[in-house]
Amino acid sequence: MPHAPPVLAAVDIAGFRAQLLERRQALTSRLHAIETDLEQARNPDDDDRAVERNNDEVLEELGATGRKELLAIEAALDRIDRGCFGTCTRCGKPIDAARLDAVPHAPLCRGCSKAA
Ligand SMILES: [Zn+2]
Repeated sequence: MPHAPPVLAAVDIAGFRAQLLERRQALTSRLHAIETDLEQARNPDDDDRAVERNNDEVLEELGATGRKELLAIEAALDRIDRGCFGTCTRCGKPIDAARLDAVPHAPLCRGCSKAA
């Protein structure tokens, strides 16, 4: 395996951007579905109120996780626009390609993410 170049090639950026946009789209519709679920009218005489509450908690947790990821994706897209995608937001060193492949919106390099 040849060494990866220190700066990501433009073609990689385009690939990551497409991935991020696709993920953002998926998350947005999932979050919308969760909100719709949460807003659905409740039947006050329902025997399953406890179960319903539990479901709401799960939905809210999913929503919170999704919103966090969505923010991270927005930030990554912003870094692409500013031309510093793939650079650690803490120490400024390049984030290794394997990490970006796994998590395209990762803001920190491996070392900083361990220290965080
Ligand atoms: Zn770092």
